[in-house]
Amino acid sequence: MAFSIQNVNDKKIEKDYEKAMTELDDFFELNWIVNKPRAFLVKDRQTIDKLLGKKTEDWVVGFVNKADVYILDKDNYEKESCHKYSDEEYSKTIKHELTHSFFQVISGFKNKPDWLWEGIAIYLSEQYKTKNKPKKFSEFLDYYEKGGSGVYKEAGFIVKLLVEKFGKERILKLIRALKDVNSKKEFEEKFRRIYGFELNYKNINKV
Ligand SMILES: [Zn+2]
Repeated sequence: MAFSIQNVNDKKIEKDYEKAMTELDDFFELNWIVNKPRAFLVKDRQTIDKLLGKKTEDWVVGFVNKADVYILDKDNYEKESCHKYSDEEYSKTIKHELTHSFFQVISGFKNKPDWLWEGIAIYLSEQYKTKNKPKKFSEFLDYYEKGGSGVYKEAGFIVKLLVEKFGKERILKLIRALKDVNSKKEFEEKFRRIYGFELNYKNINKV
């Protein structure tokens, strides 16, 4: 299968990319200088589906491959997805996808649990600001292996809570620890050791 690519010179995208990289470098303490992620703008849904080898839902507007990010082109954003386009939303989408690139690098290319993988991208891109904060957490733990649109509901808020109540260093430690994690059980064990309590709704809802 073949795809055609060309370099684009888009001032807005360059600016968004640079700003996101600087902020993410600071958060993840990575100082990413060589082999930085490349952003590929994908023209339409059909090409996204071809790249991923499956039919994607209309809310999917970006994904990562290794450390590179693929994002639906802004010119076709509304036509080819269910999202409304705005410059601000698009900047957030770029930062969301680049957060996944940083996650890949510091976790050794592990991207489970899905709630942590998506949650940190939602938190750092501030996409949670346009979502309703759940009164109680009751769903995010369903999303370990499984993905899907449901994960976006609580994931940003649980990561926000973990960062703001327990500090950034612990969540970085948890993500770095994923390198050695090969099951949900092992993840729960790492979490318990880093946070000092068991990860369940009862404990999380009283934090
Ligand atoms: Zn994502």
